[in-house]
Amino acid sequence: MTVWVLGDQLSPDATPLQHDDHVLMIEAHAFGERLPYHPQKLALVFSAMRHFRDDLRERGYEVTYIEAETFADGLDRFYDAAPGTDLVMMDPPSHGAGERFRHLVESRGGSLTLVENDRFLTTPAEFDSWAGDAESYRQEHWYRHVRRETGILMDGDDPAGGEWNYDDQNRETPPDDWTPPEAPRFLPDDVTQEAIEFVRERYPAAWGSADEFVWPVTRDEARQALDHFVETRLTEFGPYQDAMLDGEWALCHSLLSASINLGLLTPHEVVEVVEDAYRDGTAPLNSVEGFVRQVVGWREFMRHVYRRSMPELADANQLGQTESLPEAYWTGETDMKCLSEAVGHVYDHGYAHHIERLMVLSNFALVYGVDPQELNRWFHLGFVDAYHWVTTPNVVGMGSFATDVLSSKPYASSGNYVNKMSDYCSSCPYAVSKTTGSNACPFNALYWDFLKENEELLRGTGRMGLMYSHVDRKDDDEWAEISARATEIRQMGRDGTL
Ligand SMILES: Cc1cc2nc3c(=O)[nH]c(=O)nc-3n(C[C@H](O)[C@H](O)[C@H](O)COP(=O)(O)OP(=O)(O)OC[C@H]3O[C@@H](n4cnc5c(N)ncnc54)[C@H](O)[C@@H]3O)c2cc1C
Ligand code: SF4
Repeated sequence: MTVWVLGDQLSPDATPLQHDDHVLMIEAHAFGERLPYHPQKLALVFSAMRHFRDDLRERGYEVTYIEAETFADGLDRFYDAAPGTDLVMMDPPSHGAGERFRHLVESRGGSLTLVENDRFLTTPAEFDSWAGDAESYRQEHWYRHVRRETGILMDGDDPAGGEWNYDDQNRETPPDDWTPPEAPRFLPDDVTQEAIEFVRERYPAAWGSADEFVWPVTRDEARQALDHFVETRLTEFGPYQDAMLDGEWALCHSLLSASINLGLLTPHEVVEVVEDAYRDGTAPLNSVEGFVRQVVGWREFMRHVYRRSMPELADANQLGQTESLPEAYWTGETDMKCLSEAVGHVYDHGYAHHIERLMVLSNFALVYGVDPQELNRWFHLGFVDAYHWVTTPNVVGMGSFATDVLSSKPYASSGNYVNKMSDYCSSCPYAVSKTTGSNACPFNALYWDFLKENEELLRGTGRMGLMYSHVDRKDDDEWAEISARATEIRQMGRDGTL
């Protein structure tokens, strides 16, 4: 057997690599032209694959590494040289990918065995047995189930510290004189530099800057990034998890998603190292639990919800949203301080932290009325950690509320949320306290307009009662002004004058 290793399966301890020492890797290039992918995303994947190839060779594996236009072209070349070879691969999480690869291999006279993907903490069988026939799911229930089953952050039958969730300690904003610890920088070596040059030449339409590439491209670097996070940022990760600060793109976030999604780190080891920090007394429980929930709860949950909800999930649009993305998502040019910061972070780094993704980038698109599929494409092309299996449930499900399969209410808010969790509004030309009028914060009128427009679906949903009690207090004159301002803002979004 030969192990076919995909670009997001770069783990030397992956199960198939323990049984066979012949490896196939195909670096396919044409997919990078389907969307204007961020150059750091493309360079990261190509560089990490090339490093992994070299690492496997040093470990004694015989690696066939093919650079080709498509996987089909790569397999043609592979099977010309090695007819009839049987391949084994870890089942990729993106919908239908495994079967597509199997078809490509079989039509060239080989066979492809798909085995369990051990780059996740939980298996499809475990989730399916927990979920049964359910068609909608709640993360908190799944999270508690996994902790009970695995013993992660548990003291016997009870959650460590007695509570499942320490969110009430994790919504602080830093004091004015606070500066975040510096984010680790893994500067491009020759292999990465070559990948960046290749990407610059091959993909001139790519969206984003390749200038500040600092991502880990090997397992050693990813381990250093994990250790650096635990030593320097984990303690403040919890309290400042939801905060946003002018000029700061990373704050105390781990920046590990790209490494975990590539397979350079396993979720198991990440959680273990973080839990150890709590057990050693070097990190507080609210930060450790907050982080563990992201990985054990959200990441696993998203993977399984996606698996069970595709293909319908990708096309879901229960609110019937049809607007195109405002120009500012492409140019970053907007007076809206929060939006220009978040888009700028994506353009410069291929990254924005969770609250920027959820409460600025997708929240604004949601209340503005953006088509969820268009938003999903933007997230997919713009982020270094984006893969269809993880971007789609986060953007279409969580961010756009295009389906209620994974949450009972939309993550929609007015400018108040941004004002509470950031220092942006004080330096923004828009007034967060105003809903209508020429300098009123664009979030505000759009938010009320969104609630009004979607009243039929949302009024009875989840925990929306309080919001609709405010809706009910507005009179016809107020609604007319809100509607006019929302229309004006949408036009400004289209014109690029927001
Ligand atoms: C609209 C939207 C789009 C997103 N798109 C992606 C994406 O393309 N790829 C991606 O990996 N994550 C995505 N996320 C989830 C989350 O925002 C990122 O994983 C996180 O911001 C990555 O930064 P970090 O490593 O510094 O994370 P931290 O804040 O340090 O969190 C720790 C880890 O938890 C995991 N995690 C946390 N939340 C999620 C989640 N909702 N889904 C999956 N994993 C999670 C990640 O592995 C992350 O590295 C998205 C979230 C939203 C709201
Ligand atoms: S005032 Fe509105 S647009 Fe400006 S930063 Fe605050 S929330 Fe964003």
